[in-house]
Formats: sequence, structure tokens, C-alpha cells
Amino acid sequence: MKKPIATLLAATLAGTFAFAGTATAAEQQFISIGTGGVTGVYYPTGGAICRLVNKNRKEHGIRCSAESTGGSIYNINTVKAGELEFGVAQSDWQYHAYNGTSKFEEAGPFKDLRAVFSVHPEPVTVIASDASGINTLTDVKGKRMNIGNPGSGTRGTWEVIEGALGWERSDLKLAAEMKSAETGAAVCDGKIDAYFWLVGHPSALTQESLATCDAHLVNVEGPAIDKLVADNPYYRTASIPAGMYNNEADIKTFGVGATFVSSAAVPEEVVYVVVKAVFENFEDFKKLHPAFANLKESEMISDSLSAPLHDGAAKYYKERGWM
Ligand code: GLU
Repeated sequence: MKKPIATLLAATLAGTFAFAGTATAAEQQFISIGTGGVTGVYYPTGGAICRLVNKNRKEHGIRCSAESTGGSIYNINTVKAGELEFGVAQSDWQYHAYNGTSKFEEAGPFKDLRAVFSVHPEPVTVIASDASGINTLTDVKGKRMNIGNPGSGTRGTWEVIEGALGWERSDLKLAAEMKSAETGAAVCDGKIDAYFWLVGHPSALTQESLATCDAHLVNVEGPAIDKLVADNPYYRTASIPAGMYNNEADIKTFGVGATFVSSAAVPEEVVYVVVKAVFENFEDFKKLHPAFANLKESEMISDSLSAPLHDGAAKYYKERGWM
């Protein structure tokens, strides 16, 4: 049977549209942000950035997605390998990756690592069960503590603290290596006495552990910590304010900053679009996570950054007259 003209026309139009659709898809660029465990703050940070980028997807053609990963060191290594365009990473590990020091000594300096901006502070945080009898950092000796999964910034920083205290791994009765999302239940169920991590506050996991189990935050201080802070530019003293969780007093500790990084291999236009999406919608961005409440643009473009700024980020900051 001969096809009626109308059907033929429709088929031709469909063909044209299909072609146009394919062309758009080909022009679309996909970018991925490496984050951390889903109950941490990195994961919602990546989600917040992507949400603002994707809002204007039709204009710039970039589709952003946030991936849950093992954390800072994994993210830096995966950005280096070109498998992620962006990652969230602790400022201490940004420093070491760029300079080829500490855990990055063997790999050598990652000179193409680029800073984009810093985000929230990440204090060293120890959550101990009340039954554990842990009240100070040194009380964890001989106890069962989660020290972070390999690839997390948490794990790397524990190894630095362990060294500063002059401890061996065997000084813990059990050094558990769970991912952050598994640690809360482990403390509640009495499988471990405490968990250690570097995270922004308030964080969902910390909140849940302290609200649902008999557990408390521990001060992280003493001569070894004072020396770490004095000797290293990426550490600073920090506190978790009274009343943030079930703590009646400020928790005294030290910490790093969460930073947003990329690689010189990622095109300037892409980084420019991402940075613009965040800073053009800054009030919205700050509302996307309570740990962002005190962020200030001027601090985000300079504090805690040791790798050079990405050209696409610098371009936007110059346009705004911030540098
Ligand atoms: N600072 C942690 C790490 O790199 C991740 C914290 C988070 O998930 O918010 O291991």
C-alpha cells in the first residue's frame, strides 16, 4: 500500500528531529564530581554544585553529576587519571598531591592539579560510645576505632596523627577500615568503640549517631596536635560549637578545609561555567547544606588552596573584581 503523504511528511520530520536531537546530544558535555560517602558532606556538596550547574544546562550544554566515592585521595587520583573532571578534597591532601609529599611522594608532584575554590571547614571529629570510656584523643589507645577506608582523606590524616603521637597501628585494639556510611551503626551496635573522620558540621552521620546512640564527641588536643598545627600550613585549630549536637561545651580540635579541585586538562570554559553557577547563585548555594551557612566568597577563593587556581576559575574571579 502506498503511504499517504501526511505519513511520509511525518516520517521526514521525525527524521529531521531525530538528527537535530542527536546533534544536541553530541554537543552536550558530561562532567562528574567525585565526593565521599552518602551520609557525609562531600556528597551533598557535589550535589549542590551540580544542581546549580544543571539549572542552566540548556544555555551551556554541560550536564553535571555527583558520584559517591571513597573520599579525598581517591578523588585527587581519579581527577589525575582524567576519569573525573572535579573532586572534593581535604586541603592537606590537595597540598601533598600538588607538592608530591607525604602519601603522594611515590607518585610525585601532580603539577596539573588545580584549585577551584574552598568550601566548608572540616574539623577532626571523634565520636565515641559512652560505654567506651573514651574522653580524650589518647584514650583511644587500646580501643577499637574506625580510622577510615583506604582512599579517604580521613584515613590519610589518621596516619599523620598516629605518627605524631608516636603510635603504631597495633596501638589500637582494632583499626577498622569501614566507609563512613557504615560507621554510625557500628558504634551504636557496640562493634567499635569510636569512629574518626574529618567532616563538615553539621553532618547527617554525626547527627544520627549522636541522636540515636549513647555517644559523645571527644576533644582532639594536646602537645602532639599543637605541634602538627604549628608545623603545617594546612592545619588550623578548630572547634565544634556547643549545642551543635548533644555537646554542651565547644569541642576543641583541629582541622582542614574541604576544597573543590580540578585539573589543568579540564577546559577553561567548563570550569568557568561551574564556578559561575555557584557564585551567581551564592545565596541559594549556601542554603543547600547547613555546613555552608558561614561561607564567604572572599575566603572561598583563597583560603586552604595550595595548588594554583584553575584558569577558568581565575577568569570568573577577575570578572567579579575579586582578584
Ligand atoms: N573528609 C572526608 C574524606 O576525604 C570526607 C568527608 C565527607 O564525606 O564529607 O575522607
